[in-house]
Amino acid sequence: MGKTLIFSAPSGSGKTTIVRALLERFPQLEFSVSATSRSPRGTEQNGIDYHFFTQEEFMKAVAEDRFVEWEEVYKGTCYGTLRSEVERIWDKGNVIVFDVDVMGGMNLKRIFGQEACSIFIMPPSIEELRRRLVNRATDAPEVIEKRVAKAEFELTKATEFDHRVVNDNLNTAIEETVAILEKFIGTGR
Ligand code: ADP
Ligand code: 5GP
Repeated sequence: MGKTLIFSAPSGSGKTTIVRALLERFPQLEFSVSATSRSPRGTEQNGIDYHFFTQEEFMKAVAEDRFVEWEEVYKGTCYGTLRSEVERIWDKGNVIVFDVDVMGGMNLKRIFGQEACSIFIMPPSIEELRRRLVNRATDAPEVIEKRVAKAEFELTKATEFDHRVVNDNLNTAIEETVAILEKFIGTGR
């Protein structure tokens, strides 16, 4: 079993922004491309950001036991970690980066144990989280409200993670995360 990094956060906390910065800095990291039943948004590409499945394709993959874990993260929208991604990345000797919801992060930590480092990215406040989702301008207002409502529950799970990083100032949050990674996997570039 190789090493894994698990990043979870309420949507809009800045997890994707931080993970992108880390992927540039640590060449040994590789992003696990999840499957999702939602449609691509913005510039997202199939096979790079997600494997975009229809709901039928997703449930077929569930029946075939192709997921390490999966969740209906939002009503009617499923996301899952494919076993084939885990194998592909470990075969290359790389460290897997999981970007998953809070329940998925807790499940992956339970599965991978000591070989996993779980990091919870926190927004400075719920108001700032809403502001970031509005400014990102990728989700409809009702979707944003669903994500904010879920965030309040998700924040209660932060203590279940190995580390918590508050993303107030982005550069500070990246440097804090880099320090955690250097301890867990060694130095980056
Ligand atoms: P997540 O992956 O957690 O949903 P994103 O990385 O997409 O979040 O970030 C949500 C929005 O907030 C994006 O528009 C991003 O540019 C912005 N953002 C990220 N970090 C910060 C920060 N420290 N301060 C202000 N805005 C931020
Ligand atoms: P988004 O729609 O913003 O890309 O993602 C919504 C949420 O689904 C995020 O919290 C993201 O981390 C989570 N997610 C993405 N892939 C997976 C996965 O494979 N499993 C789980 N459990 N959650 C995922």
